[in-house]
Amino acid sequence: MQSKDHDVAIKYFDAIVVGAGLAGVCAAYQLRRSGISARILEAGGGVGGTWYHNRYPGARCDIESLDYSYSFSDELQQEWHWSERYASQPEILRYINHVVDRFDLRRDIQLNTRVTQASFDEAQERWVLVTDAGEVFAARYAIMATGVLSVTQVPSMKGLEDFKGEWFHTGDWPSQGVDVRGKRVGVIGTGSSATQLIPLVAEEAAHLYVFQRTANYTMPAQNHPTKPEVEKEWKQHYPDRRRFAWASGFGHNQVTNHLSGKEMTPEACLAELENRWRLGGLYMMRAFKDILTDAEVNDVAAEYVRGKIRAIVRDKETAEALCPRDLYIGTKRLCSGTNYYETFNRDNVTLVNVKNKPIDCVTGSGIQLVDGRSYELDVLIFATGFDAMTGAMTKINPLGRNGLSLREAWAEGPKTYLGLCMTGFPNMFVITGPGSPSVFSNMVTSIEQHVEWIVACIAYMKQHGFSLIEPTLHAQEEWTQHVTQMAGKTLYAKSRNSWFHGANIPGKPVVFMPYVGGVGNYYKKITQVADNGYEGFRLSAASATPEFSGH
Ligand code: NAP
Repeated sequence: MQSKDHDVAIKYFDAIVVGAGLAGVCAAYQLRRSGISARILEAGGGVGGTWYHNRYPGARCDIESLDYSYSFSDELQQEWHWSERYASQPEILRYINHVVDRFDLRRDIQLNTRVTQASFDEAQERWVLVTDAGEVFAARYAIMATGVLSVTQVPSMKGLEDFKGEWFHTGDWPSQGVDVRGKRVGVIGTGSSATQLIPLVAEEAAHLYVFQRTANYTMPAQNHPTKPEVEKEWKQHYPDRRRFAWASGFGHNQVTNHLSGKEMTPEACLAELENRWRLGGLYMMRAFKDILTDAEVNDVAAEYVRGKIRAIVRDKETAEALCPRDLYIGTKRLCSGTNYYETFNRDNVTLVNVKNKPIDCVTGSGIQLVDGRSYELDVLIFATGFDAMTGAMTKINPLGRNGLSLREAWAEGPKTYLGLCMTGFPNMFVITGPGSPSVFSNMVTSIEQHVEWIVACIAYMKQHGFSLIEPTLHAQEEWTQHVTQMAGKTLYAKSRNSWFHGANIPGKPVVFMPYVGGVGNYYKKITQVADNGYEGFRLSAASATPEFSGH
């Protein structure tokens, strides 16, 4: 559709969705179903978001596949077969593409299109979004499905431009893969991405150097092919399974021990920990109800894992270096991998502890530490994480009312109402934004809860003749304080050196970003807000009649 008052052809929709990862695809489906016209703009060359870009060897989800999947279509969940307990990146990407094709969503999705500007046109009561190709879109609603771990962080390291080998970031892995066979490879980082990648790279590289600054806790994933009886049981009881997940603490079906570690005998604690180790991955964090609130209970679990590391890793010095210290288990995101600690028993793997003797620079031929030690490398892999939760939003830096920029609004840390909306940014919704359970949950559950809420809100506004929705400052302040207060009751408040706090990005305010009050409680809260006529929001009737309809 042509604009009447501009030279550029503006394309009008009811809603623009930014991003076609799991959140954007879910939004595409639900908006279509509700008759709300939408265009989904995706920077990548394909759909999938996180699962499109994180193609590093070993990338897989650490929530069980049967749980980490959409619930919005029973046909879909019945017909799709997950081949493994924890799906690999290629399988999840196939799944997302399947969903897009099965529900004919591709025609609403525009790939290779990066949104570079978003500004609220107060007179017309609409968002205007500009892309890197200079296209202009206008829509009453802007739905930001920009992802929480989508802006990669390569630490500034002097000399990187001189490196003669190849270097990569795990979150921006080339689609053709990286050939490490017979090469000297360095991996910087020992978080979730690194712990998945390291064992596989070690199998092919001539030598692998792992540069570790902070040892984290890595659980064995205990992955295996999907058991037919498990799949059958899930498919028979999917509605119950989903209901359970939506009302649970973390948005999935992992069972929690409802006892405090202090109510149990040492023998019972040990048995529980052994059971959690066998169950694998994130199950460890459900070992005791107070594992994340009581330092002593947390230490019982931490010491148990340190014992496992010492039992697996043969070289004593390496084992000790791999043992996390001064770090409550789970306060840096728990890692889940396969043969991670075992990999350090290989002759071609060297752990380089850069905690006290950090990396000084990258040279033409490798890495040099401050003490002068140097490592010759052909390939350097940054597994150094992301500008999490806010990075993708502040990169676009939307301009709201009176030209207020999101970077200004979030200068002291992100402020949202319910992790969904921001004062000063009417009709903008963030899917799994800061202040919602988000990274603290099964992301697919949190995405579906948000999309359901947003689409219902838009439908409500249409039905009641409202054109604008915006949280009151009071509601936003109260919610932001509540998010901080909830985190303050946990060990996260004492362990601020993590991306949960934004501490991995120089200059970023150190504020705990996700909501830890539980997925089920959170869902109750947002449902109640909507049922009470969107309490905490200001809704206003249309004062302008912009042209919205188009495809
Ligand atoms: P991350 O957890 O932020 O880990 C980054 C690693 O790089 C840390 O070990 C960090 O050390 C290190 N690092 C950063 N800058 C450094 C420097 N200048 N020198 C030395 N070391 C440096 O990033 P990630 O592993 O990509 O994971 C991010 C999140 O993505 C995870 O926490 C998880 O939520 C998600 N994820 C999930 C899965 C899964 O489902 N299995 C897989 C991958 C990622 P410090 O700790 O000392 O800062």
